[in-house]
Amino acid sequence: MLALVTGASRGIGRAIALELAKNGFDVAVNYNRSSEQAEALCAEIKAMGVKAMAFQADVGDPEQVKRLFSEIKDSLGTVSVLVNNAGITRDTILMRMKPEDWQAVITTNLNAAFYCTQAAVRDMAKARWGRIISIASVVGLTGNAGQANYAASKAGIIGFTKSVAREYAARGITANAIAPGFIDTEMTEILKPEMKESILKTVPLGKMGSPDDVAKAVVFFASEASSYITGQVLAVDGGMTMC
Ligand code: NAP
Repeated sequence: MLALVTGASRGIGRAIALELAKNGFDVAVNYNRSSEQAEALCAEIKAMGVKAMAFQADVGDPEQVKRLFSEIKDSLGTVSVLVNNAGITRDTILMRMKPEDWQAVITTNLNAAFYCTQAAVRDMAKARWGRIISIASVVGLTGNAGQANYAASKAGIIGFTKSVAREYAARGITANAIAPGFIDTEMTEILKPEMKESILKTVPLGKMGSPDDVAKAVVFFASEASSYITGQVLAVDGGMTMC
C-alpha cells in the first residue's frame, strides 16, 4: 500500500515517512527544495525493504500537484494514504503582517491540503478505501499571538478535515487531523531560548515532543486500528490543550 507524505524531506514529515515504511507502506516522499535530504531518506526507506521515491513539487501550486500525482501514479501506483504535512510559518504581529505573509502561509499550509486531497480522493473512492491525515497544530485550536496566519491555516485544516470526513465516509475514506504541540524540529529551533522556556511551562508533560511522537499517531490513523474513527483531531501535545 502506497502512502504520500508531503514535505517529507525533514522534521515531522521525515519521521512520518520512516514510521510508515517501518509499518510496511511504500512511500512517495514529497519535498520542495531539499532534494538531497529527500534522496537520502528514500535510500534509508528502501533499505527497510519497501519502495520509496522522491518527488519535487511545491504543493501550494495546483499545477505542480497535478504533475506530482501523475508522476507518482506512473512510477509507484495510486495513493492509498495521504499525509498533508508540508507547512511553513511567517510569524509576526497582526499590525506588521504583510499580505504576502498571510498568502504564503495559507497557500502552503491550507490550499495545498485542498489540492492534494482532491487529487487523492478519486482513486481512494474507486478503491472504496483511503486515509487522509492532515497535520494541523494546537494553535489551530487555541489561536496564538503572532501567528494569525498560521493559526488560521491550521484551523482551516480542521474544518476541511471534518468536511472531507463527512463527504467521503460512505466511500470508505477516513479523514483525521493531528494537532502537534511543541515539537523539536527546524521550525521550532529558530525560537529564542526565553520563548522556548515560556512555551515549555505550558506543557504538562514538561518537555518538547519528538517528530516520532507525531509519526506514531499518523501510523495509527493509517492503520485498520482506526477504521471507526473519522473527522477527529488528535492533539499530540504533552497535554498543552485539554478540553
Ligand atoms: P520543518 O522542519 O520546517 O519542515 C517542513 C517541511 O515542509 C520540509 O520538508 C519542507 O521541504 C516542506 N515544505 C515546505 N513548503 C513546502 C511546499 N510548498 N511544498 C512541499 N514541501 C514543502 O517543519 P516541521 O516542524 O517538521 O513541520 C511539519 C508540519 O507539522 C507542518 O505542517 C507544521 O505546521 C506542523 N507542526 C509543527 C509543529 C512543531 O512544533 N514543529 C507543531 C505543530 C504543527 P523543503 O525543505 O524541501 O522545502
